[in-house]
Amino acid sequence: MSTQSPPIDLSNLWMPFTANRQFKANPRLLKSAQGMYYTAADGHRILDGTAGLWCVNAGHARPEIIEAVTRQARELDYAPSFQISHEDSFRAASRVAALMPDGLDRIFFTNSGSESVDTALKIALAYHRARGEGQRTRLIGRERGYHGVGFGGISVGGISPNRKTFSGVLLPGVDHLQHTHAPDHNAFSRGQPAWGAHLADELERIVALHDASTIAAVIVEPMAGSTGVLVPPVGYLERLREITSKYGILLIFDEVITAFGRLGAATASGHFGVTPDLITMAKGISNAAIPAGAVAVQRGIYDAILSASHSGIEFFHGYTYSAHPMATAAILAALDIYERDGLFQRADSLSKLFEDAAHSLRGRPNVIDVRNIGLVAGIELAPREGAPGARAAEIFSRCFDRGVLVRYTGDTLAFSPPLIIEESQIHELFDTVSEVLGEVA
Ligand code: PLP
Repeated sequence: MSTQSPPIDLSNLWMPFTANRQFKANPRLLKSAQGMYYTAADGHRILDGTAGLWCVNAGHARPEIIEAVTRQARELDYAPSFQISHEDSFRAASRVAALMPDGLDRIFFTNSGSESVDTALKIALAYHRARGEGQRTRLIGRERGYHGVGFGGISVGGISPNRKTFSGVLLPGVDHLQHTHAPDHNAFSRGQPAWGAHLADELERIVALHDASTIAAVIVEPMAGSTGVLVPPVGYLERLREITSKYGILLIFDEVITAFGRLGAATASGHFGVTPDLITMAKGISNAAIPAGAVAVQRGIYDAILSASHSGIEFFHGYTYSAHPMATAAILAALDIYERDGLFQRADSLSKLFEDAAHSLRGRPNVIDVRNIGLVAGIELAPREGAPGARAAEIFSRCFDRGVLVRYTGDTLAFSPPLIIEESQIHELFDTVSEVLGEVA
């Protein structure tokens, strides 16, 4: 008897953020995952240099998470989250709150980063309205920012291909700060670039133009990941905090990538010592075993919204699957692993070695910048003339065949391995990329 599965039909599935025609001509399929490795459908093993999509922070197939989710599915497969709940949703909220900076201890559950972002933007608007400042509706994002794919998220986001098709219906009243990528000043920085704190002062210009009384919130990724790893210049986030506080504007850090250890601390806010008013998260919150996300909200914001409402529902927002029992089971189990195995500290202690390994690619063919922080690195390549992104795409594909998973955005390769990565695997990751760089014109 043949052990081969019947061939699959690739035509029905419309793949997200994928060149569908190219993929279907040359599909890359994964079959299983364990620890630091994927196994492809053809059986070859692939070192996961990206924690899936920046999300499997504790490594793949953790038995504790699998067991917790399985147990939960048997016991309570689903519970409504409107006007009724289940105990683990409160336990999970308390555990998440304990990892947030002081004061951000009110937790709203979602299922994804995009939902977390739209939730945070709505909370910001509801807060100002609750305080009698309903005219504060303007939202400020940043060029090159990625905040998911909801209409709110793409409006404050700053990645042009994600916006242009929908440009006629983006939220009104949104401005963008300038991004912080300045290779003339900060190429090959190790950790935070020294140059660029003053770029935050542009917020003063936007405030002067519109008046603070019209501005609800500023949202930025403390470390911009999806656009190709942009590390905030020294002093930049502090400056944004000063200016937003001065004018009563809420500051939202989108930590969908950075929360849960990526920079070597529970949050990027904690790592940088800058406390925003709201934090959005997803991905690592459940180690990606079950879709989950959340927004951590400063207690005063929650109190203001609740006390503005005399009775009944205070905030008209929520998802059928907010605090889904299997998501809260996965969250509790993932947070246990992070704590028990000291994974945030592990990321911190590996970060210097990771930095050195990433910067060892300086001088390799076509490498024009290396950027890094915590267990994140971006290697920017010179684009091929007339074919931006093609060189990085080819390197990604060759690395995949060679057994190493990297990501690419434009011509930047991005690295964000699970926090359980071993030293020898860090070398394997960057050595493979180094070899492939030597082969690709
Ligand atoms: N915000 C940031 C900073 C992200 O990096 C992402 C995804 O990469 C999102 C939001 C969107 O998350 P999701 O794809 O879970 O909707």
